[in-house]
Amino acid sequence: VLSLRGIRRSFGEVEVLHGIDLDIAAHEVVALIGPSGSGKSTLLRAVNLTEPIDDGVVLLRGEDISDPRVNVDRVRARIGLVFQHYNLFPHLSVLDNVTLASRVVHGLRRAEAERRGLELLDSIGLADFATSFPDRLSGGQQQRVAIMRAIATNPELLLLDEVTSALDPELVGEVLALIRSLAEAGTTILMATHEMTFAREVADRVVLLDAGRVVESGPAAQFFANPREERTRAFLSRVA
Ligand code: ATP
Ligand code: MG
Repeated sequence: VLSLRGIRRSFGEVEVLHGIDLDIAAHEVVALIGPSGSGKSTLLRAVNLTEPIDDGVVLLRGEDISDPRVNVDRVRARIGLVFQHYNLFPHLSVLDNVTLASRVVHGLRRAEAERRGLELLDSIGLADFATSFPDRLSGGQQQRVAIMRAIATNPELLLLDEVTSALDPELVGEVLALIRSLAEAGTTILMATHEMTFAREVADRVVLLDAGRVVESGPAAQFFANPREERTRAFLSRVA
């Protein structure tokens, strides 16, 4: 589904992505781990074109979406991105948050978009909050709505950037459970995460980024049980 080739990004004089190559197959769940500042968020933003890149190519189903001529809104409807926090539009109802993109980008009629939006909210037990504003919801509920909003356009790829790290500990589980169920349903996911247990259980593959380079990439079980690189062992011993 996704191929990154030689992605580079600098801020001023400092290069923070030093030529990233990464491939994600359909239905694959890939966990992106690495120390703070290693470039995980910059990479995820580059994939959905929220962050410009200085060099390299982003291919989505073989189409070069890093070409400046592509329609950015259409690409973002094909690649959902959920951040750590502030995902929902505070001035829109929960249902309008979920349906906005499918109405604007796909031109879905309101009734149609709302029927699907309510289905999505119902699937996470939040249909009763459809007409509420986001500030009525807990952080965990808001994140689950944000993930459903990203799913509403049937994206080919879902990007999740530390979506649980701003939550109170007792709210983390409900968000992880939703991600797990999306993964089991076959959603293609690239997720930056600090949750190593979750990565081991849910990801097919784990990629360690350090100082803007891919250090190691491998099947989750092997990656944690038997890492090849010394730097991976050092990182895992610090976070485990
Ligand atoms: P964390 O685990 O803390 O979320 P990360 O792996 O997501 O870290 P990034 O946020 O991608 O790391 O940052 C990578 C590097 O790029 C850091 O050194 C950061 O300071 C720098 N950086 C990111 N965004 C900007 C920006 N807009 N301007 C300048 N420097 C930036
Ligand atoms: Mg980050």
